Amino acid sequence: MQLASIPVTDKDTAQLATIAWYSAGNMPPPSAIASLAPAIVRTPDALQAVSICFLEAASRNAIDVLRLMRASCGDSTYMIAVADAGGVEFQADLFEAGADDLLLEEGTHHLLRCLLRAKRHLTVVQSYKQQREDLQDRLDTWQDGLDHLPTPIYLKDVGGRYLGCNTAFSQFVGAEHDRVIGQTLSAFLPEDVAEAHRQSDLEVMRKGGVIRVETDVCMPETGMRHIMLHKACVASRDGGLRGVAGLVLDITERKELEARLTAAAERDPLTNAYNRRKFFQVAASATERANEPDARFAVAVIDVDQFKSINDELGHGEGDVTLCSIVDTLRTHEEEGVFVARAGGEEFFAFFSGENARHAAEIFERMRSDIARYCQVVTGVGAAGTISIGLADFDPREENIDHALRRADLALYRAKRDGRNRLYEAD
Ligand code: GH3
Ligand code: MG
Ligand code: MG
Repeated sequence: MQLASIPVTDKDTAQLATIAWYSAGNMPPPSAIASLAPAIVRTPDALQAVSICFLEAASRNAIDVLRLMRASCGDSTYMIAVADAGGVEFQADLFEAGADDLLLEEGTHHLLRCLLRAKRHLTVVQSYKQQREDLQDRLDTWQDGLDHLPTPIYLKDVGGRYLGCNTAFSQFVGAEHDRVIGQTLSAFLPEDVAEAHRQSDLEVMRKGGVIRVETDVCMPETGMRHIMLHKACVASRDGGLRGVAGLVLDITERKELEARLTAAAERDPLTNAYNRRKFFQVAASATERANEPDARFAVAVIDVDQFKSINDELGHGEGDVTLCSIVDTLRTHEEEGVFVARAGGEEFFAFFSGENARHAAEIFERMRSDIARYCQVVTGVGAAGTISIGLADFDPREENIDHALRRADLALYRAKRDGRNRLYEAD
């Protein structure tokens, strides 16, 4: 048994291919192969043409050797089986075992045809290989580009399995890239959360286009974050569905800033009570929505008693502390349906709607007595830090809120005049 290797070189002696010669009968390679191959098999790069000669026909051993060589050479090798004996079945077995071609008869022109077919085959294989490398190169470039982006991006199939993602996304879910691919979101999040995301995937696949989903997520690496998901339905060219592409924007900082800006626009910085503007917004939207004939509303004007004396005797700082503690006490009644806002200075507006408006007087009475208990200060003029309240029921279809506040203010004036620390209802 003999295995010989014949290098195929061109005129510049660059190696073009190698023809391996396996002979079970110790026959030397035909000189025609050595002389013809360099001229014919000008295959690019390191492609190989392998010729195997089986002189002992229909040998099992020959089939096994061929199979082994095919396994070790790979697809870029053109394997020519040389068999001058054996029937059609044996030849079929040779192809089955990996042969690309058969050389059945000796003779230069037979060999020449084999080598021409080898050349054609190897050129096609090389071109496919090149295309595959080009494609892989483009995919790698895309993946590199996506991996440089700080925004998590992914692509899922219609069943919710990840087809691809960038590094930011695999870091976001806390798993290696290869562990993300092929998984569904339930591998990284609790089942109920994953199911909610699945529902929005189904929604975008049903509707098409892009949807935005805002949600809180708690991820292993990042902890609780507020995110905005852009989900796009990905359709194939024939109109079928490919899946969902997604982009995860972490908007936690933006949300916090928004919350701070909203608070700054709506609240008084000293006491954190709602401001006057917010008061009128809330009251306007509540009265606009109320069309029922028995809808009830009430407003109140609340003023701190003898507040100036607290400033004068204990200092402005202590005055601020007292004001804040009055606001905190007023706000403990918010759950009873009263909306309180700082109108300015040591004066507050309050608003009731619906059923709570019927009980406004009782609720204010409780507020007044709480403040008298917790915030009262004795100064030179007597009791200070208590509150006086003027309360007015009103029907927005007959009276606007400014007018109702004026009536409440008149009631407040009477409460002050009659000794403070009391609630008066408007006429
Ligand atoms: P009355 O019972 O009649 O309402 O007496 P009063 O002293 O509360 O009323 P007055 O209008 O004479 O004084 C209100 C004071 O509230 C004057 C002002 O300096 C003080 N004030 C207003 N806003 C603030 C604040 O933000 N902080 C402090 N410390 N004082 C304030
Ligand atoms: Mg006052
Ligand atoms: Mg006042």
